Amino acid sequence: MSAERVTAVVVGAGHAGLAASYFLGDRSIDHVVLERGEVANSWRTERWDSLRLLTPNWQSRLPGLRYEGPDPDGYLTVPEVISLIERFAATTRAPVRTGVNVTSVRGSPDGYRVTTSHGEIDCRAVVIASGACNRPSVPALAGSVPGSVEQLTPFDYRDPAKLPDGGVLVVGASATGVQLAAEIQRSGRPVTLSVGEHVRLPRTYRGRDVLWWMDSSGVWDQRHDEVEDLTRARRLPSPQLVGTPERTTLDLNALAALGVQMVGRLAAVRDGRALFSGGLRNMFSLADLKMNRLLGTFDEWAHASGRDGEVGPVQRFSPTDVPAAPRLQLDLRSGEIGAIVWATGFRPDYGWLDVPVVDAKGHLRHDGGVVDSPGLYALGLPVLRRRRSTFICGIEDDARAVIDHLAGYLAIRG
Ligand SMILES: Cc1cc2nc3c(=O)[nH]c(=O)nc-3n(C[C@H](O)[C@H](O)[C@H](O)COP(=O)(O)OP(=O)(O)OC[C@H]3O[C@@H](n4cnc5c(N)ncnc54)[C@H](O)[C@@H]3O)c2cc1C
Repeated sequence: MSAERVTAVVVGAGHAGLAASYFLGDRSIDHVVLERGEVANSWRTERWDSLRLLTPNWQSRLPGLRYEGPDPDGYLTVPEVISLIERFAATTRAPVRTGVNVTSVRGSPDGYRVTTSHGEIDCRAVVIASGACNRPSVPALAGSVPGSVEQLTPFDYRDPAKLPDGGVLVVGASATGVQLAAEIQRSGRPVTLSVGEHVRLPRTYRGRDVLWWMDSSGVWDQRHDEVEDLTRARRLPSPQLVGTPERTTLDLNALAALGVQMVGRLAAVRDGRALFSGGLRNMFSLADLKMNRLLGTFDEWAHASGRDGEVGPVQRFSPTDVPAAPRLQLDLRSGEIGAIVWATGFRPDYGWLDVPVVDAKGHLRHDGGVVDSPGLYALGLPVLRRRRSTFICGIEDDARAVIDHLAGYLAIRG
């Protein structure tokens, strides 16, 4: 059977792939969007029940689509995110083919050959919008955890009622870790939270959502080629934030007040014991220092731009409390811990990409979304072009620029 031909193929129908489609359509570039599941598949299959966006509703903006509901300062639930993305796909009439798994993309004489569960497509350009969070990152030491302890990733976790009885060790204190730790502790299961490098933020600052500050002050608009240590910026953990109707702050002090026990970074599992590093004091003060530095940047911006009158007075928050004697080990065979939740981050999966553009650590080699192979592009990766790239509100500018480049490439190639 001969392969179908289109000019461009977009892999993935999350908000990033659909934004790529919007700008391809705008430039009349014929294309298809291939999606192995349904539109917004990651939100349908890989998120826990209580999750709400940590970005406020007014930031849930996509090309040609703005939040116009009654609660701009609220936070969308997962079903609401799914309907937002479905609405985007419908209003833009994106040429999405659902239930089509891309199993290989490889170079061909005039571009790329895309092999799918439904046949082959030849195209001149491919946009990789398959997501940055396809798999949970679980450290190798998970293999040494005794079999009596149930292990879950955020992809398996749905709600605390499905956990076994007993204590829960949550490993990782980024947005996922702190949100799950709070929910599990509230369900009556005692939580121990293993804390490594983390990003502390208050939910509101000087009366405004902290993400309003990120947005307005230009911090989130810092470009990838202006960031001092781009590799580090791309690996930065997500901030300790949760979206709740009460706009509560969910930092480590809030978790300690709920009764969550803090321990250091999980360093090893040996003879059935989880061993944690010391040094919580240093880790906490580093996170406090960075938060205060960021708040200082906001204050300077508010002053310099004459916005001081529009916001509340300058605030500073109490330092993170260091527990008097944090535990350095936990016996995982004692029955104290029934489950471990690995909130240790996510990584992309490029197992289907047969073009040599993935480095030894599994990251795509690209410059602002222009991948290291002519005609190959990427969207939706951390700090792809700007600090806001990974968020819904970052896709419009990124997708416009990446599709501009793609159109230029097609024009030159004739
Ligand atoms: C837990 C969590 C919470 C988040 N909270 C927020 C938030 O509050 N605010 C915010 O702005 N952002 C948030 N994000 C970040 C970001 O918005 C999401 O990760 C979002 O899903 C990324 O969109 P995407 O289109 O890049 O990727 P995805 O939504 O992952 O879409 C990729 C699509 O590609 C498909 N796909 C993958 N491989 C193939 C293949 N081989 N063949 C065919 N199809 C394929 C997948 O099925 C999927 O539908 C969050 C992310 C996570 C993980």
